[in-house]
Amino acid sequence: MTMWRQDYRSWGRTVSANHVVDRPENRDNATRALSESEFPVLAYGCGRSYGDVALNPGGRLIDCRSLDRFLAFNRATGVLTCEAGVRLADILAVICRPEADGSGWFLPVTPGTRFVTVGGAIANDVHGKNHHRFGTFGRHVLALELARSDGSRLVCSPEQNPDLFAATIGGLGLTGLILSATLQLRRVEGLAVEAEDIQFSSLSDFFDLAEASDRDWEYTAAWVDCLASGAHLGRGIYSRARHYPGKGVEPPGRNSRLSIPITSPIPATNSLSVRAFNALYWRKLGLNGQTSRIGSYEPVFYPLDAIGEWNRLYGPKGFYQFQCVVPHEQAREAVADMLRLIAQSGEGSMLVVLKTFGDLPSPGLLSFPRPGVTLALDFPERGTTTRKLLRLLEEVAVAAYGRLYPAKDSLMTPDAFRQGYPSFEQFQPMMDPRFSSAFAQRIGLIKGEAQL
Ligand SMILES: Cc1cc2nc3c(=O)[nH]c(=O)nc-3n(C[C@H](O)[C@H](O)[C@H](O)COP(=O)(O)OP(=O)(O)OC[C@H]3O[C@@H](n4cnc5c(N)ncnc54)[C@H](O)[C@@H]3O)c2cc1C
Repeated sequence: MTMWRQDYRSWGRTVSANHVVDRPENRDNATRALSESEFPVLAYGCGRSYGDVALNPGGRLIDCRSLDRFLAFNRATGVLTCEAGVRLADILAVICRPEADGSGWFLPVTPGTRFVTVGGAIANDVHGKNHHRFGTFGRHVLALELARSDGSRLVCSPEQNPDLFAATIGGLGLTGLILSATLQLRRVEGLAVEAEDIQFSSLSDFFDLAEASDRDWEYTAAWVDCLASGAHLGRGIYSRARHYPGKGVEPPGRNSRLSIPITSPIPATNSLSVRAFNALYWRKLGLNGQTSRIGSYEPVFYPLDAIGEWNRLYGPKGFYQFQCVVPHEQAREAVADMLRLIAQSGEGSMLVVLKTFGDLPSPGLLSFPRPGVTLALDFPERGTTTRKLLRLLEEVAVAAYGRLYPAKDSLMTPDAFRQGYPSFEQFQPMMDPRFSSAFAQRIGLIKGEAQL
């Protein structure tokens, strides 16, 4: 009998759906589950995507978390082959350990959580705070093995099946199931990081700090007080970090230390608490307006990972995340317009990140990062007022020739997708005809069940 489950939902908790779920123990079973499925299929990693990109309502989800074997690691070259359900947290814990002189192998690119799978990191071609130096995750994938619903297993790399490789990186899980991947890790002289936080008073100060910092600092991003307005519009705290030679640190644990056991019955993030938090946070550096430290990378790269299921704090209705990138030429005006809209709306956000992307090209046909400035925020779901604000933000991003990030999105319109991702026409023929997702249907990459 087919068992339907409703416990797979988006990280923002605004979308849940009925799925038939498989959790194959090995790659052969995963390949079989695809080809024998009577329903449209989709791979699922750790479910850390905020919107509906990892959901497949009324279809089959292949939960890849038991495909978690390390297959080969060459300590001399840093080339790692592992199954697609291995998490970045596992690579850090097992491979990225300090040697006697503090140096070691490290992830070339990591998003703001280590609890994502290698398959999920490839399918969204994720980026980190070092985009201006290392580009996206997909740039460091040497090859991958892809299972298709016709039962075939293909090795894809820049040399073998290059079109399918380019479609699968950032391909939102729609080209097939990634079974394993070969990654090039990077050597660092010290696993510890030297990190600085600097208070800034306006958007124009952010752009000056970004320009000055991107030269000497590998990891850069800023928190912005999105409720500040007038002369203070865009004020915030700029964070920058780099590896510290000669000092090693032990990797963080493979799981969160604390967790939120139940969903808060009311959002812990109402507009008053957001206003108070933002005002206090902006002042956290005291009179100096600056701090620096040397130590573990965990609080710098993964501040939210300390609390498991922190997404429950937003209450039963959940929250939306919005992330866009706009080209450098339009960035100052577009970001100011977006911050003004947010300040006027009163729909505050505590987690607001502003960052410049560098010029290194993304390898995927649908990769999100492009040269420019990216703004990411989350908003508790309060109904039409929240959705209206998100639509206005989308309009500003699209008018500035920008694009929205599918990994974070629940509301993007088909027009915004088409304008932001003109390569979708090259992408569509590479899709596996039996794969589907809520996102793909919503933005028109797939028309209902017509592909089946
Ligand atoms: C706190 C936090 C911080 C974050 N910071 C960043 C950031 O800085 N930069 C950034 O880019 N993203 C960031 N993200 C988003 C996150 O990195 C991505 O959504 C990532 O893809 C999630 O990986 P996952 O393993 O949870 O995959 P899921 O969310 O489960 O799935 C994501 C996509 O991958 C596909 N997929 C999963 N496994 C496979 C497979 N084996 N084969 C084929 N397709 C597969 C799914 O179908 C889906 O389309 C953040 C998320 C959180 C919660």
